[in-house]
Amino acid sequence: MDAQTKLTFAIEEHGNPVPASERAERIADPGFGRVFTDHMAMVRWSKDKGWHDAKITARRPIEMDPASSVLHYAQEIFEGMKAYRLADGATALFRPEENARRFNRSATRMAMPELPEQLFLESIEKLVSIDREWIPTAEGGALYIRPFMFASEVFLGVRPAHEYLYLVIASSVGAYFKGGAKAISIWVSEDYTRAAPGGTGAAKCGGNYAASLVAQAQAIENGCDQVVFLDAAEHRWVEELGGMNLFFVMEDGSMVTPPLKGTILPGITRESILALARDEGIAVREEEYAIDQWRADAESGRLRETFACGTAAVVTPVGTVRSSKGDFTIGAGGTGQLTQRLRDRLVGIQRGEQADPHGWVKRLF
Ligand SMILES: *Cc1c(COP(=O)(O)O)cnc(C)c1O
Repeated sequence: MDAQTKLTFAIEEHGNPVPASERAERIADPGFGRVFTDHMAMVRWSKDKGWHDAKITARRPIEMDPASSVLHYAQEIFEGMKAYRLADGATALFRPEENARRFNRSATRMAMPELPEQLFLESIEKLVSIDREWIPTAEGGALYIRPFMFASEVFLGVRPAHEYLYLVIASSVGAYFKGGAKAISIWVSEDYTRAAPGGTGAAKCGGNYAASLVAQAQAIENGCDQVVFLDAAEHRWVEELGGMNLFFVMEDGSMVTPPLKGTILPGITRESILALARDEGIAVREEEYAIDQWRADAESGRLRETFACGTAAVVTPVGTVRSSKGDFTIGAGGTGQLTQRLRDRLVGIQRGEQADPHGWVKRLF
């Protein structure tokens, strides 16, 4: 065992935390990503020392030199996960080891150091523990946890940095899309792609999001909630939304989802839905699905449902698809039966209200 795996977190409690009454007000209807807890986790890495200086400390602005390399070359990755309050009052995470592993796959792709899995898990558990009172009690509420790492070295040369900062912040959140699981409309981007073969599509890096924003803005201009990207080579195969994976439900009850070939982010929600569908005996194919086929199948009725999935919004039905070639509606434009069932099943497991045969829920305290 090397020194890094034995690192322990120093706990520096906030000297002036948000008073309980003010906190209650802030978390009553928090929306998404605006209300933050009192603390954060922080660990440093340098080429000489490896991982060191692990602590839980007061959340505060970080001072950065203007030459910090992340500000120039975008060496940055992140994760997104939730801490839930279970039906019996306990607090739990959902498959956090999967986030730890994916974080390291992203790190490898971006030429950044891997973080020992144990350190990742401990940073989250310690932060959730100290800020547990920030978990909203309202239905759909959770603590959204955002681990991230960036190149902090003060250097303008182009090469992997020699210093990094790993941080975890937490945000009290309500339901992601206003109006709950209402069906969303999506815009097919014909001008922009998200990821190309050999690129960073499978890494959870900030740069992917930066590149998606102009397409997302077009979606909004066209009256849609989200953008869907096609493959970069042929502009034919449906890949995913800016931050969610897609599933298609056929009239024979089978499902299709685009395969993981390096241009799609391997969602943990996606993987969980695949497992739950297979538990039910549903035939799920991970195979390419063309945009023209999507339209034809929606129009003929061969396609019954489409849904998007990800940690933030869990499972969200897609009602309408819009492109320069016109609109098409999926099913009756609302929430399909299988979409609803899989959503209820997944949320039921996450909230400790249903059996958890795969052992996905990790109780903390
Ligand atoms: C994070 C993310 C997802 C969803 O992953 P989950 O692990 O299910 O939250 C899907 N697509 C993209 C591009 C993402 O960044």
